[in-house]
Amino acid sequence: MTMAANPLVRPMLSVEDARAQMLDGLTPLPAEEVALEDALRRVVADTIVSRTTLPPWDNSAMDGFAVRSSDVARPATLRVIGEVAAGAAPSVTVEPGTAVRILTGAPIPPGSDAVVPVEDTDATPGVADLPQAVAIRTAVAAGAHIRRAGSDLRAGQRILDPGTELTPAALAVAAAGGHATLPVHGRPRVAVIATGDELVAAGTPLGAAQIPDSNTPGLLAAARDAGATVRSLGIARDTFDSVRNALLEGLAWADVIVASGGVSVGAHDVVKDAFASVGRIDLWRIAVQPGKPLAFGRAPAGGRSGDVLLFGLPGNPVSSLVTFELFVRPVLRQLAGHADVLGRETITATLTDPVRKAPGRRAYIRVRLEHDGASWRASLAGGQESHMLSALAAADGLAIIPETVDSAAAGTTVEVLRLR
Ligand code: AMP
Ligand code: MG
Repeated sequence: MTMAANPLVRPMLSVEDARAQMLDGLTPLPAEEVALEDALRRVVADTIVSRTTLPPWDNSAMDGFAVRSSDVARPATLRVIGEVAAGAAPSVTVEPGTAVRILTGAPIPPGSDAVVPVEDTDATPGVADLPQAVAIRTAVAAGAHIRRAGSDLRAGQRILDPGTELTPAALAVAAAGGHATLPVHGRPRVAVIATGDELVAAGTPLGAAQIPDSNTPGLLAAARDAGATVRSLGIARDTFDSVRNALLEGLAWADVIVASGGVSVGAHDVVKDAFASVGRIDLWRIAVQPGKPLAFGRAPAGGRSGDVLLFGLPGNPVSSLVTFELFVRPVLRQLAGHADVLGRETITATLTDPVRKAPGRRAYIRVRLEHDGASWRASLAGGQESHMLSALAAADGLAIIPETVDSAAAGTTVEVLRLR
């Protein structure tokens, strides 16, 4: 017997193979220069080098007195000859037997090789008037409480690598390195299409046989969370024309179109035909649970050069969000230029509940994680059927049960993909 051409009898693809095919040849979006205040969570497109040496000069780590360490080897009283505040260049030199009052961050005056914190003197902290003399109670070593020039950054030093997601601290180090703007990759543009005659927009009173469209808000948010700019193309009817029209609108704008529903083999499942009418399409069976057949393809962008990626995710809300997590999110992160395309942490946990699953597929079980002080425990976040959004919403991780296992007893050690 020969294998039929029907994709549903093709062998199932592993999660990794499917993902690799989606990512194949996908290059990050071109870079643009953006102000630091607009760059949070964007991805650096280039190696960023410090333009400054920081601190630019030796400066004080404490409020106190700049002294010559040899003068204070034993308790001593020194004449106070001036002050350096932060932002002021020192105007006096510390000669033997003298001290200069100094504030945190101020440059170390010439002649001084150490700072004595005000707490180790007889001076009263917080008093504006400069004392004439100061008694030093404790010896300090040369270099004490001095932050050396260049101890944080040196001009020319690499501070950010390409592919780094800009955190608040990364933006701060870029600013410290003399940058007001940074080159970042473009944000992927994602258009979301719901399909289904039963769907109405969330909040609309439900007629007979209607349910709220929960995939649109969920997928828009998941795409934004992955760094995309998003647009909803509404709810398409279960007709070829309705889905195709929504696709054409998306092709004129998006880098990625994410449709949900209508992608299996039901009589009204028109998404793959609509995909095929605008571009190239594959329907895959992926060895994953939840997850039914998933359509993936490419179509020429409307009125622009290049291709738009097409995802037809399963309609069941849990399946659509989990397959988004496993496949769409890495694609968006690759387009956004992330060095770490998956961008999720995996931890080891002990299952507190038994689980059963479909043989031959990798299951992603919705779990709640708890740390008992020694290790992580993963308990079922609720029912595991693919329409049960309540369990996904309660979950903070997906416990990964391998293809080769049909069930796992309580107490089994599992890997958990953390969702937050
Ligand atoms: P389908 O893949 O179109 O057969 O849909 C599978 C299941 O998911 C059905 O129960 C649909 O009602 C449900 N579904 C499809 N799309 C959505 C959506 N956007 N929001 C909520 N449920 C949906
Ligand atoms: Mg449907």
